[in-house]
Amino acid sequence: EVRLEGITKSFGDFTAVNNLNVTIEDGTLAGLLGPSGCGKSTTLYMIAGLEKPTSGRIYFGDEDVTDLPAEKRGIGLVFQNYALYPHMTVRQNIMFPLENAKVPKAEALKIAQEMADLVQIGHLMDRKPGELSGGQQQRVAIARAIAKKPRVLLLDEPLSNLDARLRLETREEIRRIQQETGITTIFVTHDQEEAMSITDAIVLMKDGVLQQKEAPQEMYRKPANQFVASFMGTPP
Ligand code: ATP
Ligand code: MG
Repeated sequence: EVRLEGITKSFGDFTAVNNLNVTIEDGTLAGLLGPSGCGKSTTLYMIAGLEKPTSGRIYFGDEDVTDLPAEKRGIGLVFQNYALYPHMTVRQNIMFPLENAKVPKAEALKIAQEMADLVQIGHLMDRKPGELSGGQQQRVAIARAIAKKPRVLLLDEPLSNLDARLRLETREEIRRIQQETGITTIFVTHDQEEAMSITDAIVLMKDGVLQQKEAPQEMYRKPANQFVASFMGTPP
């Protein structure tokens, strides 16, 4: 599980995340949801180890990872703008983190093919990112992020650069991949419908403050307050 205990993040005198207490259960897909500027990315970056909390602790299971650097946390990261290496092939992109970790070449090749097959781009291994659609590029980014079998997969608005049809298709893919791998996954989005459609639980934030954490249908049916009701579209 991923557990945040009293996590606060301030930038100067502005508090972006305010005393966040939340647990993401093992093997689940959680949606971190809320309007623009509510602190979703900041929270995700703290879990990743890319931002340091001003106060509070972060646990992966029993392990306190608050002071661990990002590369030692065992996380996979996917951003909205893919951040693939443009001069490398798909195969080389997926192999990159493995080679960095000194995984032998033959083994890295085998894992890269497995990951590519899992996200259904196994036939595109010799292409470069510029020769792929946005949805295909995002699948490569996911394959690369899970190649080292991370403890936690963190996705920051992975669909927002895709057109409507690809957005639908890719979100179902994320659900399928998460279920096949069982990797604990946190999916950041500001889109209520997106979160409703694929997650096991929604963590809803507003102005850096947790509003409710609940299974999607439960949150829709039993919103904790007026903000949750209107954000989730619960009829009055
Ligand atoms: P979006 O949906 O637009 O991506 P978000 O929920 O991911 O929004 P964050 O990026 O976490 O929001 O930002 C939360 C708040 O913290 C915003 O008001 C933002 O301006 C502020 N903020 C984020 N990073 C910094 C920083 N490095 N310095 C100062 N303020 C920051
Ligand atoms: Mg963001």
